Amino acid sequence: MENKNQAFNIIAGPCSIESEAQLLDVASAIINSGSSALRGGIFKMRTSPSAFQGFKEDCFPWINKVKTKTNLSLVSEITDPRQVDLLQDKVDVFQVGSRNMYNYELLKELSHLNKSIILKRGFSATVQEWIKAAEYLQSSGNPNIILCERGIRTFETSTRNTLDLNSVAYLKENTDFKVFVDPSHGTGVRNLIKPLSLAAIAAGADGLLVEVHPQPESALSDGHQSLNCKDFLNLVEDAKKLLTLFNKTLNNSEEFKKEFNVQSLVNTIATNSSHEIRI
Ligand code: PEP
Ligand code: MN
Repeated sequence: MENKNQAFNIIAGPCSIESEAQLLDVASAIINSGSSALRGGIFKMRTSPSAFQGFKEDCFPWINKVKTKTNLSLVSEITDPRQVDLLQDKVDVFQVGSRNMYNYELLKELSHLNKSIILKRGFSATVQEWIKAAEYLQSSGNPNIILCERGIRTFETSTRNTLDLNSVAYLKENTDFKVFVDPSHGTGVRNLIKPLSLAAIAAGADGLLVEVHPQPESALSDGHQSLNCKDFLNLVEDAKKLLTLFNKTLNNSEEFKKEFNVQSLVNTIATNSSHEIRI
């Protein structure tokens, strides 16, 4: 296994999609760095009901424009089974959030789809509970399930969560799942994103999910754990150097699409002509 040239994925973007310009800035950083895909929240699961819940359908025109201009894939969270039809042709890879890892009705519904799914670890879930949740996603045949370690709640309060890299090494050793790491939620601290990203590569992860915002100070959610575009480019450069040590290479956006079964944008637009955008 060590000698095989393996692909690594870096997915980056804002916690919440806030505007076309914001999404386009991060999309440019992804393309310039040669990394893999865009992330961005449409529906947000916030601990407080009075916190910003995401721009929901208002994001759709921004998403259409940015995807048409850049051809990047979008990873975004689906928070409710009733959103499947709404999000199906906007979002290329569904994310199931930490707070929904135990939502078995949602997992069963997503199991019918022909779309890759990133399953975040519940912040109080054991690795075995997380694996069982992934089996729900596979239960009606969906073969493209990726696990994402995003930190767990421990007695430690210096950081928002404790990023459990044990789970990454354990899952790579004992299961066939692809395993990504989210160092933004895993630490809650911007300056810890880079060291923990590099540690995730060393632990055997297959990818990173990083929060990036053009102006983290003014982000509507999770700015304190988001990199700006310049720091993101710097992270990707260092990640590439470390990846060579493990005989791995970074997937660009086209390689990401092949690996994670993303339909081409042409089909997406053709089946949804009301949202067609010409450039
Ligand atoms: C997110 O990715 O923005 C997010 C809400 O993550 P989690 O579900 O891990 O808290
Ligand atoms: Mn977030």
